Amino acid sequence: MKDIKPKVEQLYESLPVACVLFGRDDDGGWSLLWQNASAISVWQDFEIDDHPMFKLELMEVITKNSSSSFDYQLPNLLNSYQFIAIPFDGCVLVQFFPKQESTSNDLSCSGLYQKVVESASLGVFDWDIEEDQFILTPRVYEIIGVSSAQLEHCYQSFLDMVYPEDVGLLKEAIEGHLATDWPLSVEFRMITGEHYSQWVQIQGQAEWSNDLPVRLTGSIRDISERKHTELELKQREALIEQMIDALPISIYVKDAQGCYRFFNAEAENQTNKLRTEVIGRTDYEVYPMPVSMKKAELDKSIQLSEKLSIFEAESEDKDQEAWLLFGKIPIQVMQSNRPYEIWLLSFSLDISDRKAMEEELKEARAIAEDAAKAKADFLSVMSHEIRTPLNSVIGNAGLLLSDSIDPEMAEHVEMIKRSGEHLLYLINDILDFNKLEAGKVELDLQPFDLKKQVDTVIDMSSTNAKLRNIYLKSDIYPDAKQNLLGDEGRLRQVLLNLVGNAVKFTSEGGVTVKVYQPRYSDAVRFEVIDTGIGIAAENIPKLFSEFAQAESSTSKKYGGTGLGLAISKKLVEAMNGKIGIESKEGEGSTFWFEIPFQTVEGESTVSKPQDKVLEDLTGLSILVAEDNLPNQFLIKSILGKLGHEVTLANDGLEAWNAINDQDKQFDLVLMDMQMPNMDGLEATQKIRNEASETVSSIPVIALTANAYDDVYDTVIGVGMNDCLIKPVNIDQLKQTLNTWGASKHS
Ligand code: ADP
Repeated sequence: MKDIKPKVEQLYESLPVACVLFGRDDDGGWSLLWQNASAISVWQDFEIDDHPMFKLELMEVITKNSSSSFDYQLPNLLNSYQFIAIPFDGCVLVQFFPKQESTSNDLSCSGLYQKVVESASLGVFDWDIEEDQFILTPRVYEIIGVSSAQLEHCYQSFLDMVYPEDVGLLKEAIEGHLATDWPLSVEFRMITGEHYSQWVQIQGQAEWSNDLPVRLTGSIRDISERKHTELELKQREALIEQMIDALPISIYVKDAQGCYRFFNAEAENQTNKLRTEVIGRTDYEVYPMPVSMKKAELDKSIQLSEKLSIFEAESEDKDQEAWLLFGKIPIQVMQSNRPYEIWLLSFSLDISDRKAMEEELKEARAIAEDAAKAKADFLSVMSHEIRTPLNSVIGNAGLLLSDSIDPEMAEHVEMIKRSGEHLLYLINDILDFNKLEAGKVELDLQPFDLKKQVDTVIDMSSTNAKLRNIYLKSDIYPDAKQNLLGDEGRLRQVLLNLVGNAVKFTSEGGVTVKVYQPRYSDAVRFEVIDTGIGIAAENIPKLFSEFAQAESSTSKKYGGTGLGLAISKKLVEAMNGKIGIESKEGEGSTFWFEIPFQTVEGESTVSKPQDKVLEDLTGLSILVAEDNLPNQFLIKSILGKLGHEVTLANDGLEAWNAINDQDKQFDLVLMDMQMPNMDGLEATQKIRNEASETVSSIPVIALTANAYDDVYDTVIGVGMNDCLIKPVNIDQLKQTLNTWGASKHS
């Protein structure tokens, strides 16, 4: 048996296949007699006594004296090996190699390990450092796309397959591991047959013997897909970051601890801070203490509130004044291995320009409002100041005319009266227009009878038409709805204006007011058709703008302010209607408007006090509170002529005293609004609240020259019963006295 060893050695020493010679002792025990380098590299020292099954296999070979093949799993090795045992001169020669039909230089796995490794798509490498044998499983060849034959199975040949730029990285990782046992895990690219490069990851563990690394085994994993995804993710992140950086909005994110996690370019711009100075830090590390405390506290409270918060604030960062619009919203952020956290997403927009503009606008508006108020005040004062003397002029002229005076004088007085009325008409137009201009038209919607309204307008304008010797008629189609809901006063105003113009500009033929229901709409259409001078085409477009007259000579010849049509247009539009004109110079004009009135069922039911036909009352005892002497004189004369008894008071206080005088009993009070000592409003309030029961219920009628404000609401508000606008129209006065003095006779 002693002679066998050299023989075997000679035959099998240099074989790459592991060869071992086992012999039997005389007492039946087995011992390892010799093994070649390949065997040592696989199992180091093999203690056969620890492997009874293995011994049985050997026994069988000896007993049967025939070779046998068996698989055996060696301890501490991944692979199962296939063994071939041959009887050899009373000994057993065993050759073994990894169990797989692959070439001897491929590492193979078996059993459970193999399954695990395969399912993970892992390749395995085994580097015998001392022998410099670098063995790979077939999966590795698959990954890198070369065949086993193309590789020399040594470390350098493996390194040659590595992408040149990554060789250093790989060597560093392996050498570091071998030197310090630092975990080996490294990602690098390999040059592949088919592709230019392939991302792989190596993880491994070395074995040491006498402080020297002897073996390094581990896995090789294809990570190209992950790398590809990572790359895509990075590109996408970069793109999003680029987009966010391009926005003119500052955007930043703080985590639950208040650390900045994201900071875009505009945030850098708005804060004058670089993202490298900010990211990973809290406000306390970035800003001075008072500022950081304010910022951190605010953000914390919003984070806790879990609600979006939008507000404007001055910038704390810029040297010059800057206004920012802030938006802050808490966001839920998923954390690996932890519950979600609430972070804070903030954005801010520089609104300094808008702020400056707002300020300018505010100032401009204040100036405009002041100007508008000044204008309104001026008009109100003017109207009062002009109406008071006018009241006196027109009233006295009227009184004179009602007396029998000589005809020549009557003509002069008539002229005075007409001029006064014209002036009053002008003032009313201007006031009306200003009221409309300020958007103060409030419609008083009441049921009314269409035909009655048209007839009233015809009646009121018929004197002028007669004077001009032209006809004036209405033509109401049967299909026109009769009982309507609307502001009849405003409708009358528009009609009067158009009919007035038509009469004014017509000297032959006449004027027709046509009313019908057009087929194409629900609105009522009014047409004022005249056979007058007409209007040149080029003048038509500007007619409805204020102070417009077709010819500059018109005002000289026909008078007028050029406001009537502008007022009519505004009124029609306030009633949701349209207005227009068709005309030819020299051939007459048709002014039309359409208003979508609602209809009411049956006859119009509301009868206002002025609609009632009342017998004119006489013999009322009237207290007149008026501070202006001419007006006192005028109103006293008018009331006297109407058969009433008048007591005068120079102001509110005198009126108060008079009304409480036990010796006198008044049926009605006419109260001026503006008076020294105590004005009409105060006096009325006193009467209503402080006087005895009989006195406190006396009807009080306001007398005012101020037609501009919402006088009616004001006077009713303090307890007055009605309101007469100066200069007092005698018919209106009669009607008011009839209405409010009636209690005496009822
Ligand atoms: P005015 O007070 O001057 O009449 P309007 O606004 O009512 O103001 O009318 C403006 C101008 O339109 C008039 O000056 C006149 O030139 C022209 N106009 C109005 N109605 C007629 C009409 N029926 N025929 C001819 N011209 C008219």
